[in-house]
Amino acid sequence: MKKALVCGAGGFIGSHMVKRLKDEGFWVRGVDLKYPEFWETTADDFVIGDLRDQYLCRQIVDRKFDEVYQFAADMGGAGYVFTGEHDADIMHNSAQINLNMLDTCWKRNVRRIFYSSSACIYPEFNQMDPDNPNCAEDSAYPAQPDSEYGWEKLFSERMYLAYHRNKGMEVRIARYHNIFGPYGAWNDSREKAPAAICRKVAMAEDGGEIEIWGDGKQTRSFLYIDECIEGTLRLMRSDWTGPVNIGSEEMVSINQLADMVMSIAGKRLAKKHVPGPLGVRGRNSDNRLIREKLGWSPSLPLREGLKKTYDWILGQVRQLECES
Ligand code: NAD
Repeated sequence: MKKALVCGAGGFIGSHMVKRLKDEGFWVRGVDLKYPEFWETTADDFVIGDLRDQYLCRQIVDRKFDEVYQFAADMGGAGYVFTGEHDADIMHNSAQINLNMLDTCWKRNVRRIFYSSSACIYPEFNQMDPDNPNCAEDSAYPAQPDSEYGWEKLFSERMYLAYHRNKGMEVRIARYHNIFGPYGAWNDSREKAPAAICRKVAMAEDGGEIEIWGDGKQTRSFLYIDECIEGTLRLMRSDWTGPVNIGSEEMVSINQLADMVMSIAGKRLAKKHVPGPLGVRGRNSDNRLIREKLGWSPSLPLREGLKKTYDWILGQVRQLECES
């Protein structure tokens, strides 16, 4: 039986990865500071522990895992990453987790490790025009990410690549672009735009209004979780290191995203634009490289993923209302 280790298995992407690996018949160990918040883990073994602790890392890498997925990070949406208030924690905690896990796997002769980098590594100067952002993989340098979160991701990418070159580690690196879907953060200030907008729309009375950070003309693309997992597995099991974008090419403005959610909900709401942390002006995945190297790229229309996410968040909102 194949064995996998999922670091950050209590988080959004990690908990979905555990489920997928279990469905495929793997024996799975998950590790996190916490259990998944919104559903039961399906991992065979779940260790509650802190991956900043080198000793814990040595304990959990106690067998020959076929695949290791490193998702653990101190992260959140714009309200967490772009305010500047958490920069020291974000850089220190995530770098330490990556230093520990990569070196432990090497020392324990576990060779194949996936690292979840981010579109936040791309230079700010290529993302000023909301209609024409450049996020091709080879545009990462000269580097100028707009957040310390992005700088840590870039540092860790380079460290994984160095272990590949110098120590023969089979690393795989993806740069995720805004992953969304059910069982993710939706009301704890770490949620991303799709979940936040679904929540605001679900809670608003028809004819009311919702708040949007900024003028809503900033653009992004959003990738549904199932396609993120599919792309990650395809990369992991390919013979290619990356880094590669895993994201959608269906770019929309935040105003368009809100309109789509309102139409799914069947509500007409006014948009009230308020100041808030925004990030870059435009961002879109560039999928030319993933198509060339893996012969695959995401294809699910945004609206379909949003519908599933809205239905789940509406259920969460109703449950909260019942409890209060
Ligand atoms: P998440 O916050 O839901 O999951 C991260 C998990 O790591 C959390 O459960 C957290 O408790 C855990 N963790 C943090 N510090 C830890 C520690 N010291 N020891 C053990 N566990 C610890 O985030 P996610 O959305 O699932 O993202 C997974 C990975 O993908 C992260 O590395 C993130 O930076 C990257 N990524 C995500 C997105 C996205 O849109 N979700 C985009 C780009 C990159």
